[in-house]
Amino acid sequence: MKQYYLVRLDDACPQMNRLRWQRIENILDKYGIKPMVGIIPHNEDPVTCIDTIDTNFTSKVLNWQKKGWAIALHGYNHVCTTITGGINPVHKRSEFAGLPLAEQKEKISKGYKTLITVGIHPKYFFAPSHTYDENTLKALVEETSIRIISDSIALQPYKQGVFTMIPCQMGRFRRLPIRGYWTFCFHPNGMDDVAFDTFEHFIKTNLERFINFSDIDVNKVGKKTIVDRLLSFVYFTLRKIKG
Ligand SMILES: [Zn+2]
Repeated sequence: MKQYYLVRLDDACPQMNRLRWQRIENILDKYGIKPMVGIIPHNEDPVTCIDTIDTNFTSKVLNWQKKGWAIALHGYNHVCTTITGGINPVHKRSEFAGLPLAEQKEKISKGYKTLITVGIHPKYFFAPSHTYDENTLKALVEETSIRIISDSIALQPYKQGVFTMIPCQMGRFRRLPIRGYWTFCFHPNGMDDVAFDTFEHFIKTNLERFINFSDIDVNKVGKKTIVDRLLSFVYFTLRKIKG
């Protein structure tokens, strides 16, 4: 296994910072990289309400879809109401983890339908704050055809029941000493000039390592390895100790 780099963009919604999103799209287009993009179907989070509502948002997403970007359902309203970390406890807050199944099913179903109705077909899911639980997975199975999750700490994609889990480990670009599949997630809404320059420079100098999500053959993905079990255990134990 070599080193593969993947790009994930979080928090696309009608109130996103349009100029910054256009800027990141231009850079990705320039280097032929197709990222995963997380769409918030019913944004009510003040943190992600930046610009006035973009009436063109749906056609923008449809264009990303046409270009081959990996479309992900990113929660429902992006508002965290629990203090639970669930099965990927990167944070102790969640829109999903800790909620009863019925409530999660309603959120997932409403969000999914909102996108499907306008022709957007998400194949992936990732939750706000990276946090979800077993009920979120059940809700996805019962309400959607989504069977791929972005998020988890591991070195390579693995199967968990009917799901393929694609790890997401980093919030910024860095050269890594270990082989594996590395997803770097970015929040274009909060990126400044320096962040964009760093972003482009890293891509330019490491271009041969970048792949697209569609390059991952989910039929060839196996069970979580012992190394990955250990890695994830150590990661979350350290995170707990650090508080
Ligand atoms: Zn988010």
